[in-house]
Amino acid sequence: MRMLEVLDECRKLYNYFLGEWKKANKVLPHYDLQAQIPSLVREYPALEKVYSTARQYVLWQLYSNLKGLRGLKQRGRKIGSLRFKKYGRMKTFVYNKCGFKVINNRLYLSKIGDMPIKLHRKIEGNVKQVIIKREQSGRWFAIFSVETEAEKLGTTDKMIGLDLNIEVYLTDSNGEEVDHPHTLLKLEEKLKKEQRKAEKKKKGSKNRLRQSNKVAKVHERITNRRRDFLHKLSRYYVDNYDFIAVEDLAIKKMIESSYNSKNKVDSAWSTFIQMLSYKAEGAGRTLAKVDPKNTTQNCSGCGSYVYKQIWIRTHKCPACGLVMDRDHNAAINILNKALKEVGSVRPELTPVEMRPLLQNFGSGACPAEEAGSLHALAVG
Ligand SMILES: [Zn+2]
Repeated sequence: MRMLEVLDECRKLYNYFLGEWKKANKVLPHYDLQAQIPSLVREYPALEKVYSTARQYVLWQLYSNLKGLRGLKQRGRKIGSLRFKKYGRMKTFVYNKCGFKVINNRLYLSKIGDMPIKLHRKIEGNVKQVIIKREQSGRWFAIFSVETEAEKLGTTDKMIGLDLNIEVYLTDSNGEEVDHPHTLLKLEEKLKKEQRKAEKKKKGSKNRLRQSNKVAKVHERITNRRRDFLHKLSRYYVDNYDFIAVEDLAIKKMIESSYNSKNKVDSAWSTFIQMLSYKAEGAGRTLAKVDPKNTTQNCSGCGSYVYKQIWIRTHKCPACGLVMDRDHNAAINILNKALKEVGSVRPELTPVEMRPLLQNFGSGACPAEEAGSLHALAVG
């Protein structure tokens, strides 16, 4: 297969540059090595298979690895030197700025040809780089770096508080609930099943390897689908609200670390807030993070402290009589707290229209996997 060959030529080139770097025994400027590329290609015609910017990018990869290593050393970590890459250890090659085209679900790569791709998300903006990645399972992915002009959105005069929780994925201050995507839960079950199967196979056997590849594939699907879900969810809130309030996860983690072992859920929340954060910035929206202290317990109607055990799902206030879903109450508190902190007065909340979009997240958005095709997701 062409791409495998290209990947391996990139690996050899990487090793060659690393060898030169080690031989020099001093800091070798980047352009000294880059200047060698033309004569190298003449000497090893196999390098012709690699597109020119991809060759240059190999050098860039090496220098960024060296830089990373230096950083670790400076921070006092004991670290060896950079190692040569064995067969199969090179995972990516990169087309930078040119040599690629995306037309109607096909990716064209100069020197390689064109191939079908499955886009997990629509590509918006100018693609400035395509990273071709080979996963552990042997499947190929194309990752597009996209340059988007930050598009400032018009004001909506709407604000929202979000409560991230384990029961459902998220509850907002309008009382809308977003569930964990059903397809994700199903995939997670499948993952467990495949993992158990792998453990039963004999270590080092071919069957074990085959089963491990299956596990890796399910992992990849989960990661992609989760990112896709979080992208859509964060996009929805940024598009529809000027002011978004969430809990400060750093503080929340500190409070909950004593009894909450669901780190995986936490890491998805961090990703979600990251996405909200850069999308909000790009669109000129405000994302406020508040201390989660008492947001669950306090009454959003009158402010009284109403203690609830974790399994009590309904907030009932003895002081003012307010009865509502526990997480809905929390989301309102999060919004109020954030507004207090920015010194603004909360306006009357007008009832908002229900958006059907919310119910559609992750419900079978991905068609059946096509063996051998290239999967793609856009980053940006
Ligand atoms: Zn109350």
